[in-house]
Amino acid sequence: MTEEKAVEIPAEQQRIGTIDRIDLAVVRIPFVQPFGTSVQTWSCKEALLLRLQSGSHVGWGECVADPDPYYLPETTESARYIITRFLLPLLDPGLEMGELARQFRRIRGNQMAKATVENALLQLIALRSGEPLYRILGGTDRRIPSGLSIGLQESIGALLEEVRSAVSRKYHRIKMKIQHGKDLDWVRAVRAEFPELPLMVDANGDYSLADAGHLRRLDDFRLMMIEQPLGYADIYRHSILQKQLETAICLDESIHTLEDAAAAVDLGACRILNIKQGRVGGLLESVRMAAFAAGRKIGVWSGGMDETGIGRALNIHLQAVPGFDLPGDTSETAHYFREDIIDQPVRLDPEGFIPIPPGPGLGVEVIPERLMKYAIAWHRIR
Ligand SMILES: [Mg+2]
Repeated sequence: MTEEKAVEIPAEQQRIGTIDRIDLAVVRIPFVQPFGTSVQTWSCKEALLLRLQSGSHVGWGECVADPDPYYLPETTESARYIITRFLLPLLDPGLEMGELARQFRRIRGNQMAKATVENALLQLIALRSGEPLYRILGGTDRRIPSGLSIGLQESIGALLEEVRSAVSRKYHRIKMKIQHGKDLDWVRAVRAEFPELPLMVDANGDYSLADAGHLRRLDDFRLMMIEQPLGYADIYRHSILQKQLETAICLDESIHTLEDAAAAVDLGACRILNIKQGRVGGLLESVRMAAFAAGRKIGVWSGGMDETGIGRALNIHLQAVPGFDLPGDTSETAHYFREDIIDQPVRLDPEGFIPIPPGPGLGVEVIPERLMKYAIAWHRIR
């Protein structure tokens, strides 16, 4: 009875509670194959992990920052500094989550660091009430559609191999990275073999407004969307470009808050939003953005950052929330890692859907031996 009551309190009004132990770790796990984008190629996943222990409950945060500032300015090291020096000291046990978010706003930017702390706290709240994480976010149990992000490949032949493999696994949509010189012919080749495949492209900001005529040629390929064609901090020029394209623009790197999303939508800079919970300050802001987008008829999906099983599970729970109607970047663990730090790894069901991990909290178990195997740094804060 009390468990059912607890979930009726919105997550914003739940108290942080006492935190008995705090640890920060950095893990480095090799990728099955390097992941290439127009800005950088990564051959391993380096992630900052936050472990919060409250009594017998443990909540985990995974910072989505890379060790380098090539995707966005935050890095593993900058996030560790902001978390340790500015965010953790704000964790007063009596504070409600909504009030904590207001205090976090005084610290400008650093959304990835903030998300790491907030997401771990939300798991503790879910565990205390015996509920799965998605329920305290207002989500309902459902199978999550899958999507794969295919990095830049060496050849069109290699790209086609990747797409064939993904289609055979029943992924619901395929995203391919593009950049100058690896765009029109590459998309054309995929379309020729897969005329009906739900397909989209992601440029990670590789183009400028001067490329509008070139990008307009992508309209021939009936893409679901083109993600972040222009600069990583731009909104306004995307609004000019969107007027010249039939294909929907989706913004990723430019959107860090609900205010950014509202500005982009008001300007007509995008028709779809990629909500990466780690990029927008955490799950609560993600839920607010999804509600806003639904009210404005803007498509929403959950983007991925090649997360370990912790971040992957966070993204799965988020997609149980109303509004996440388009397939996201959530893929099978085995596509990225031979071994993960959690059990169970994400696997697609025969129809390509992803089940939400069962049980209270995140529903996945961090395996201590694997954590130690892949940890390159460990700091006990409290
Ligand atoms: Mg992107």
